[in-house]
Amino acid sequence: QTQPTPVARLSRIATIQRLLSTLAVLEQREGKLNHSSLASVTAAQRMGGSVHGILAGSNVKSVADEAARVDGLEKIIYIENSDYDKGLPENWAPMLVENVKNGGYTHVFAGHSAFGKNLMPRVAALMDVQQVSDITQIVSEDTFSSDSPKIVTIRGTAFPSGAAEGGSASVEEGVDPKAPCPTEWVSENLAKSDRPELGTAARVVSGGRGLKSKEEFDRLIPPLADALGAAVGASRAAVDSGFADNSLQVGQTGKNVAPQLYLCAGISGAIQHLAGMKDSKVIACINKDGDAPIFQVADVGLVGDLFEKVPELTEKLNSQ
Ligand code: FAD
Repeated sequence: QTQPTPVARLSRIATIQRLLSTLAVLEQREGKLNHSSLASVTAAQRMGGSVHGILAGSNVKSVADEAARVDGLEKIIYIENSDYDKGLPENWAPMLVENVKNGGYTHVFAGHSAFGKNLMPRVAALMDVQQVSDITQIVSEDTFSSDSPKIVTIRGTAFPSGAAEGGSASVEEGVDPKAPCPTEWVSENLAKSDRPELGTAARVVSGGRGLKSKEEFDRLIPPLADALGAAVGASRAAVDSGFADNSLQVGQTGKNVAPQLYLCAGISGAIQHLAGMKDSKVIACINKDGDAPIFQVADVGLVGDLFEKVPELTEKLNSQ
C-alpha cells in the first residue's frame, strides 16, 4: 500500500477539522460569566473546527452577549429559563442533549468542575455514548473514544481560560425541552472567604492530618496563607477528620490546582493528593518524616515539626 503524500495528509487533516464542531458548556452564576469555564473553549480551539458556547438560566441574554466577545467562539446559544439557574443536572442533561442533536455537534466540552462532573455522565448516558473525563491535553479528536458525539470534561488547570475580548460571535436562542426536574432545590451553604479562590489562586497553602485537630489547623494554616496572600487547601484526611471544609479538599476527589506556589504542611503526598496539585510550578513541603513521598515531588522541602516551623515561617513573612 502506498503512503499518502504530505500534501494529501495535510488536506485530510484540513477536511477533518472542517467537519469538527464543538459545543462548549459555559457556566454563569447570577449573571456573571465564570471565566474558568472558558478552558473548554481553549481546549476546543486546540482541536480545531467551529466552536459554539451554550448558557442557560434567568436573564442570561446579557451573559450571552458578554460570552460573544470571548475570542474563538462563533456562536452563543442561550436558554432563558430560571429552572436552569442552580445547574441541576436532571433538567440540564435533557436540555443539553436536545441542543447537541439540534446543532449536530461532534464534541461537547464542559469543565471538570462539580457542575460538569455532575452533568456530563448523564448527557453521555442519554446519548448512549462513553464519557471521557478530565482531559489534560488534545492529542487528536478521537484519542479516547470512537463514539459520536464525544462528551468530554476538561481539566481547567491544563488549559488557559483564553481571552475574554476579541471575539464577535452571533447570539441565538437554543432549544428548551422544559423537561420535568425530579429534584427540588432546597438551599445552599457557601463558605465565604476573603482569600483567593482555591481553584484559581496563584498561591495555595494546604494542611493535612499532621495538623492533628481543627483548632490547630485554624491556628496555623490560615495565618500562613494570609502572610503569602494564598488560598487555603487541605488533604482529604484533614477534611474527613473535620479540620477543614470539604470545599478546600485538593486531589483526585477534590479540586485540581496549579498555582505558582503550593506549600503544604503535614501532608504525606499520597497519589490521590498529588493528582490534584502536581502541576503546581513550585511545590514546597514541611513534614517531620524525611521519607514521606511528598519530598519526591517537592522542589523545596523542610524536614521538621510543623508546630514549630509553620509559626516561625509565618512570623518571618509577616515581619518582612
Ligand atoms: P497522612 O497520609 O496521614 O499524612 C500525614 C503526614 O503528616 C505524614 O507524612 C506525617 O509524617 C506528617 N506529620 C505528622 N505530624 C507532623 C508534624 N508534627 N510536623 C510535620 N509533619 C507531620 N487524598 C487527598 O488529599 N485528596 C483527594 O482528593 C483524595 N482522593 C482519594 C480518592 C480515593 C478513591 C482514595 C482511596 C483516597 C483518596 N485520598 C485523597 C486519600 C489519600 O489516599 C490519603 O489518605 C490522604 O491524602 C492522606 O492525607 P494526609 O497526607 O493529610 O495524611
